[in-house]
Amino acid sequence: MKRKFQLCSRCYLCEEQAETVNHLFLHCKWTDQLWRIFSSLRKITWVKPRNIVQLLNCWINIGTTTIKEERWRIVPACIWWTVWKERDQRCFEGKKNNLQNFKMNCIALYYFWCKQKVLVQTEEFFDVLDFVTKSTDGVSLVCNTFGGGLL
Ligand SMILES: [Zn+2]
Repeated sequence: MKRKFQLCSRCYLCEEQAETVNHLFLHCKWTDQLWRIFSSLRKITWVKPRNIVQLLNCWINIGTTTIKEERWRIVPACIWWTVWKERDQRCFEGKKNNLQNFKMNCIALYYFWCKQKVLVQTEEFFDVLDFVTKSTDGVSLVCNTFGGGLL
């Protein structure tokens, strides 16, 4: 009789938990640092959802009615691409960035994507970050197993 085993490797970032999609892209303490950058800049009270589908549902509820909100929409993809690149670098090349460089890679990528994909005109780096800080002053974002949205 064959037994089915699900092998789950250890997370390449924290090296503490099993690597699952939801851990790697949402709950890992390294990834959490990236979420904190954007949530704290935008002054969002963050109750993290269980999985990435719930996160995307919540994230969209923040609002994407203006061209500048497109910048907000790309945040999850920016975080996940940064995480994936770091994960692959550790897995396949044996190279690790420290936490500070990891965070800087995400911010630089965010700026690059804003400049390339979203912005009509070239803007300075701090103008891009300034948008994140001013858009939803004091908004609380709650994502949980019962759904999510703005409070
Ligand atoms: Zn981890």
